[in-house]
Amino acid sequence: MSAVVKLHDIHKSFGTVEVLKGVSFEIDRGEVVAIIGRSGSGKSTALRCINRLETIQSGTLEVCGHRLDQPTLDLRALRQDVGMVFQSYNLFPHLTVEQNITLAPRRVKRLPNSQARALAQASLERVGLAEKIDCYPEQLSGGQQQRVAIARSLAMQPKVMLFDEVTSALDPQLTGEVLRVMETLAQGGMTMAVVTHEMTFARRVADRVIFMHQGRVWETGPGEMLENPQTPELQAFLSNGL
Ligand code: ADP
Ligand code: MG
Repeated sequence: MSAVVKLHDIHKSFGTVEVLKGVSFEIDRGEVVAIIGRSGSGKSTALRCINRLETIQSGTLEVCGHRLDQPTLDLRALRQDVGMVFQSYNLFPHLTVEQNITLAPRRVKRLPNSQARALAQASLERVGLAEKIDCYPEQLSGGQQQRVAIARSLAMQPKVMLFDEVTSALDPQLTGEVLRVMETLAQGGMTMAVVTHEMTFARRVADRVIFMHQGRVWETGPGEMLENPQTPELQAFLSNGL
């Protein structure tokens, strides 16, 4: 097994406040890792370090062969290899679904129209929304918009996908359709890091769960660890929720 994401002893501060206090974990190719923990425990920051939305103070960080702790980092190449989906899907309201999806690939890959549309079609098929290609975002439900955001990310053919609480803004009935799309991606072999409050998803879909607490990896293991927490902190998190 080769790790495509390797964090080793990552320290990250905002001003004088250290929010990542020596975080280490790896994600193998095709592996799905769920990152759970209380609000403020450093989950988003850890995820954002992986595609260099945040810089780190110390530690080593390698993603798809890119050394993020080296000055020689090719940021453009890194961003092509790593897709990220956020809680707020941020589709452009004045652009159609097709245009939203093909904006970045057109810019990066200089695709002609027919190829761009085919790419959008293929990406939309993976999230089950091929028939919405000519819609505007406002014509779609929140769950559908989030699936389009996932398709937009897939269109760049990333090697790793990062998801940061992508269902947190959605009603429960729309959450399910987005989680099912993510499960399909997982089954298709995508390497994924998923920050989530959906414990059922973490238990069922993730190969491994990472529980973060106060800027540290507190406990990690297969989904079953949620049935049998080893630390009082994970126990408390699981019984009190957020
Ligand atoms: P989580 O995603 O687990 O809720 P975050 O990674 O967002 O946690 O935040 C971890 C800590 O870092 C929090 O205390 C948060 O207030 C702080 N933090 C996050 N981003 C910034 C920032 N840009 N500037 C200052 N503090 C930040
Ligand atoms: Mg967060």
